[in-house]
Amino acid sequence: MHGHHGFNAAMKKSLAAGLLSCIALLGACAHAPSTHNPMATWVPSQNFNERRPVIIVLHATEQKSVQQSLDTLRSANRGGKVSAHYLIGDDGHIYQLVDDSKRAWHAGGGSWGTLTDLNSTSIGIEIDNERGEAYTDAQIASIIRLLDDLCTRHTIPRTQVIGHSDLAPTRKVDPGARFPWKTLADAGFGRWPQGELIDPPAGFDPWLAMAAVGYSLTDRAAAVRAFHQHYRAQDDGDNPQAVFDAEDLRILYALNASVVTTTP
Ligand SMILES: [Zn+2]
Repeated sequence: MHGHHGFNAAMKKSLAAGLLSCIALLGACAHAPSTHNPMATWVPSQNFNERRPVIIVLHATEQKSVQQSLDTLRSANRGGKVSAHYLIGDDGHIYQLVDDSKRAWHAGGGSWGTLTDLNSTSIGIEIDNERGEAYTDAQIASIIRLLDDLCTRHTIPRTQVIGHSDLAPTRKVDPGARFPWKTLADAGFGRWPQGELIDPPAGFDPWLAMAAVGYSLTDRAAAVRAFHQHYRAQDDGDNPQAVFDAEDLRILYALNASVVTTTP
């Protein structure tokens, strides 16, 4: 009997231990997975905060309604899961879908300057807009208010506001040639040529200027098309022969000067 009792006690002990470890595991599963590296000794410091975004990417939803976009940005979505931190309705209403400190899925492949994983480094703002449609005054007012808030709270340089087509010129055309970049520039956001435009001196290399501004030169015609949308309000479609004209060179010369005289 004693033996039996001892066996029972041992069983109960091991069952209890098993249960405890299950509870511990469940606890672990209920929270974010640990990112403590097993090859290092964990000696935690309290001196940290959330990582900060360094750039803001503007998009057009290219969908029929803000409700359709709210569904797309929060669902499994047939074309793959997508999201953005913010969505702006055509009445100017601002929706937030992902915390500023988290990585939303809006940019995809592409680059801007030395940034090659834009989802990790940016805040994404979707604007309710079907392709070719004009943006509303209420939307632009809300975008400017939101940019001011984000740049202030996260110390994002006000020049670091770009379009999806700027970082992915071979794949994307949003927010499109009708997006009022000049209005944003007048409010202090995005990079815009300052002062009177003048012809660049002989030997000026527009491609070096494009790279200095941030554009990838992998597909030069695509880069020119993205530049035309942003700085000339001009839609070249998918023209594989898109090239710079004299006004483009004057703009690029001024943009290049603003890059070398300001920190990003
Ligand atoms: Zn986009």
